[in-house]
Amino acid sequence: MLPARFDYHRPETMADALALLDQHGDDAKVLAGGMSLIPLMKLRFAAPGHLVDINDLAELRGLSESDGRLRIGALARHHELETSDVVTSRFPTLASAAPLISDPLVRNRGTVAGSLAHADPAGDWGSVMLAVGAEVVVRSSAGERVVPIDEFLVDTFTTSLAPNEIVTEIRVPSAAARAGGAYLKMERKVGDFATVAVAVHVTMDEGHVGHAGIALTAVGPKNIRAAEAESSLAGTEPTEEEFAEAARLAAEAADPQSDLRGSADYKRNIVSVFVRRGLARAVAVASGA
Ligand SMILES: Cc1cc2nc3c(=O)[nH]c(=O)nc-3n(C[C@H](O)[C@H](O)[C@H](O)COP(=O)(O)OP(=O)(O)OC[C@H]3O[C@@H](n4cnc5c(N)ncnc54)[C@H](O)[C@@H]3O)c2cc1C
Repeated sequence: MLPARFDYHRPETMADALALLDQHGDDAKVLAGGMSLIPLMKLRFAAPGHLVDINDLAELRGLSESDGRLRIGALARHHELETSDVVTSRFPTLASAAPLISDPLVRNRGTVAGSLAHADPAGDWGSVMLAVGAEVVVRSSAGERVVPIDEFLVDTFTTSLAPNEIVTEIRVPSAAARAGGAYLKMERKVGDFATVAVAVHVTMDEGHVGHAGIALTAVGPKNIRAAEAESSLAGTEPTEEEFAEAARLAAEAADPQSDLRGSADYKRNIVSVFVRRGLARAVAVASGA
């Protein structure tokens, strides 16, 4: 099917892009990698009258670490994270997830910011960003605001973004000296969306778990933070028993649907297995193993 008719805009400045969004309101959509928006338009699930292509806004490009955080520009593609030395060496949870996003075609075009703005409950970055405690920086003609990821992801395909706002960057706190993380994903075949996936991020403090971040993909209406599982680990020694209890609590936090990929019980069980494995791996990385 062909998309409905639309006007295409390619602003060269952020001010022009924001003015277009102010002018067209609900009838405009930001276009980044187009990997989610264009298929929706071709299926006519979305029919915006105006596309505002942000790909010429150089200020939205790049990845860099400074002042205790990683800045992921809104035009940073999945592939850039996959191949970034900074991400590979300093942000293990992100590094673990990046190669698991779809296939090389999608990773070359799709952006992390677009993935978060799309808010697909089967999207991988939402869980990763919950686990690492990211913030989303958002701009409109009225100014800038910084939104914690928990407040940014509201519901299925729904964020707290207003129609006249653009995500400009994602901020990920730099890892503590002893931090580790992992992203475990079950997919029917390489390149597919997750049947179930789990993001785990852990900091260690003198042999004990300092802070744990655990979030779940494709087992609820949005990416889910397993808050009780996280707090069960704080201050504990990282033992198999503690991991099993956190895994049980995470499986309870999941709210999966039975479908062709598996029953709800099966998916809950995968959550539990992945949380245990993810914690073991994250603690090993944090401990320098
Ligand atoms: C075949 C296929 C397989 C895929 N598999 C996976 C997978 O396994 N895991 C996964 O996580 N994702 C997967 N995706 C989705 C992919 O990650 C997309 O790249 C991502 O969801 C959207 O990023 P984008 O830059 O392409 O955004 P676009 O498609 O351009 O936009 C998506 C939405 O976000 C909005 N948006 C984009 N950028 C901004 C911004 N800066 N500010 C405000 N709003 C913005 C758009 O208006 C639109 O509503 C897959 C996609 C395809 C086509």
